[in-house]
Amino acid sequence: MQALREAIRQYGRGIGQDIVKVDMFLNHRIDTKLIFDIGAAFAQRFAAQAPQIILTVEASGIAIALATAHAMGDIPVVFAKKSAAVNQAGDMLTASAASFTHKNTNTLRVDKHYLPVCSRVLVVDDFLADGQAAHALIDIVRQAGCQLVGVGVAVEKGFQQGGQRLREEGVNLVSLAIVTGIENGEICLANDDR
Ligand code: 5GP
Repeated sequence: MQALREAIRQYGRGIGQDIVKVDMFLNHRIDTKLIFDIGAAFAQRFAAQAPQIILTVEASGIAIALATAHAMGDIPVVFAKKSAAVNQAGDMLTASAASFTHKNTNTLRVDKHYLPVCSRVLVVDDFLADGQAAHALIDIVRQAGCQLVGVGVAVEKGFQQGGQRLREEGVNLVSLAIVTGIENGEICLANDDR
């Protein structure tokens, strides 16, 4: 997606060898137009799969999920929570995901009432690195007895294994921008998406 690649080129910074910082438009400050354009791009790429629910994980996935759900006809968004709370129901589906950026392991939690059996579910997130978050969300989709129709990520870090693994597993993966590496703080991008 051209506009996303341009935003990464303009505002993205590499931290060390493997962290892409895009706080300017995605992870701290949000560029509203770009987010809705990302949603429209996913809606177009996944239109044929006709998802009924968009599933993501808090926090940075929510804006992308909302934009995608809106572009797909205002279908619901469900986001996995990363911590337990007293107001959560007993019927929670859970899966573990090691966090690449926070260096801890989260238990992702979704109330199973929000994923009715047999629903067609599209998983979206901001980044795909090792695939921990995506696999945990896919696990929750399966526990719920739902059908995974695809995974959409704004930014795939192609130098990590998550994308390759999902493709090998036959998951319908769409990545709107692919980072191929970080050199001296500069982010290197593939010229196309997948
Ligand atoms: P994975 O679970 O695929 O290893 O990592 C994806 C998750 O970690 C995403 O939900 C994202 O929030 C976070 N993440 C992984 N790598 C990066 C990165 O380079 N930059 C940012 N901003 N987030 C990342």
